[in-house]
Amino acid sequence: MPTDVEVAFPVLDPKDLAALTARGHPRAVKAGEVLFAEGDRNFCFNVVLEGTVEIVEHSSGAERPVVIHHAGQFTGDVDMLSGRSALVTGRAGQDGRVLQLSTTELRRAVDELPELGEAILKAFIMRRQLLLGHGYTGIKIIGSRFSPAAHRLRDFATRNLIPITWIDLDTDEQADALLRQFGVPASATPIVITRDGRWVSNPSLSGFAKCAGLTSSLTEDHVYDLLVVGAGPAGLAASVYAASEGLDVLTTEAMAAGGQAGTSSRIENYLGFPAGISGEQLTRNALVQAQRFGASITVPCEVRSLGLDGGDRIATLMDGTRLRTRCLLIASGVAYRRLEVPRFADFDGAGIYYAATEMEARLCRGEEVVVVGAGNSAGQAIVYLSRYATRVHVLVRGEDLGASMSRYLVDRVQALENVTVYCGARVTGLDGDGHLSAVRARLQGGEDRTFATTSLFLFIGADPNTGWLRGCVELDKKGFVLTGTALPPGITDAERWRAAGRTPFLLETSLPGVFAAGDVRSGSVKRVASAVGEGSMSVSFVHAYIARPPG
Ligand SMILES: Cc1cc2nc3c(=O)[nH]c(=O)nc-3n(C[C@H](O)[C@H](O)[C@H](O)COP(=O)(O)OP(=O)(O)OC[C@H]3O[C@@H](n4cnc5c(N)ncnc54)[C@H](O)[C@@H]3O)c2cc1C
Repeated sequence: MPTDVEVAFPVLDPKDLAALTARGHPRAVKAGEVLFAEGDRNFCFNVVLEGTVEIVEHSSGAERPVVIHHAGQFTGDVDMLSGRSALVTGRAGQDGRVLQLSTTELRRAVDELPELGEAILKAFIMRRQLLLGHGYTGIKIIGSRFSPAAHRLRDFATRNLIPITWIDLDTDEQADALLRQFGVPASATPIVITRDGRWVSNPSLSGFAKCAGLTSSLTEDHVYDLLVVGAGPAGLAASVYAASEGLDVLTTEAMAAGGQAGTSSRIENYLGFPAGISGEQLTRNALVQAQRFGASITVPCEVRSLGLDGGDRIATLMDGTRLRTRCLLIASGVAYRRLEVPRFADFDGAGIYYAATEMEARLCRGEEVVVVGAGNSAGQAIVYLSRYATRVHVLVRGEDLGASMSRYLVDRVQALENVTVYCGARVTGLDGDGHLSAVRARLQGGEDRTFATTSLFLFIGADPNTGWLRGCVELDKKGFVLTGTALPPGITDAERWRAAGRTPFLLETSLPGVFAAGDVRSGSVKRVASAVGEGSMSVSFVHAYIARPPG
């Protein structure tokens, strides 16, 4: 079994070097010559032929060596494919020679040389993991753990794999010193300190994305084959299939790739992962896979409305940009439900969470927490949080934990000594001053109980993200998108379908060329595997639609 370092920094054998040489451009380099620098985008992939290439980074203010590549080794990490800006600088250590491939040439090589391609992609993924694990400072966020605005930025960074250093205003001595250094009052926090030493107070998510080098420019006059709205499992699967089958695809994502699945601590029932896989790992792999085939995934990029212009579908973004596409896939999933109790809004983001990832778990280490819900997502969260919290109180409205939770999770929850389940219970109130400090509940039999906690986790179902579609495609009574045979006959008899001379495809909505997949679709099974299946399948309907445009 190779070590992590061997996976991250393989030495190519002569056969692989020859295969890459046939696809790249050898050139001489001088000692000290910078091949790519922090902040650069679309830089070349370099294989060292003679001499060395040093990788260094400056995220902490001073230069720090990362690694030295010798002959037969190569530069690059996941950002080579994602188009994000480079986190490190690569420069020649000595006079020598490198073989350079552009991103497009590298993608082609990965496609044409599957074994070598696998080694390169594994190295890219592992390098990022090693960089984050070895003191890479990245962007700094200074804020209070009790501030909803700070939570929003950290959540966005964590879910988008943006390396950050979190500096807690309330507990970290560095915070005061840094604020003094920048002349910023504590009232201006959260502040973001960028890699080049500038600071921004409480930026919007798109402002923050810009600081992190995430944004890409979108052009209004381009017509895509397929625009995918939402990069959860359904959208990512569609992106992989569409890009690998040569379609011109763009995926827009409002918050972070991975969707709900990305917030899951461990998905245990997805085929092919016998030990389960964390949502973060699944998302990371899927993103690299989609980008390897040339799919563009743009974040944060929320679609606000859908319309028609001639033969094109038009998606209008939050900033007013109008994207044109021949086909569109609605993969916008669902949004978590909130509790209807007084003062809920005061603590949304200030002690109320809808996911139990490492970030939330760290926040509640050594404390008691309350979880509300009894589905599988609640079960996974309870098991995960029980490793960090001193006690997990579970409030279940029904009489039986097993009514909607898989048996294996019920057994695990019941075996945990620091978990107490209260059936027939409901939350009646929330207390706190700026941040949640207590959850009040009515238990079975009418007893009122107050749980002193700063963390309430909600897993109480979700509503479809279809507000942007109203009036555009047919929805069911609960707001989920109707497709295929579920569409009412009145709709499929309409003029536009008569003109098309066909009935809607299985995943097609009431609007020809607009498809829906995953949790957002009426009647779908709300699971990762079915979302992935539907997202993949939708691409075959896109091909059929493009091959046979409506009359
Ligand atoms: C905590 C948790 C644990 C889970 N565990 C499991 C499990 O173990 N096994 C399992 O099979 N299933 C599990 N599920 C369910 C599974 O994650 C979902 O069924 C799956 O993620 C649905 O995928 P999707 O792509 O359809 O939608 P989603 O995952 O909801 O993704 C939709 C995406 O669209 C984006 N979006 C929404 N509106 C817009 C817009 N207007 N513009 C742009 N983007 C937009 C959202 O930000 C989101 O990223 C779990 C769910 C949760 C919450």
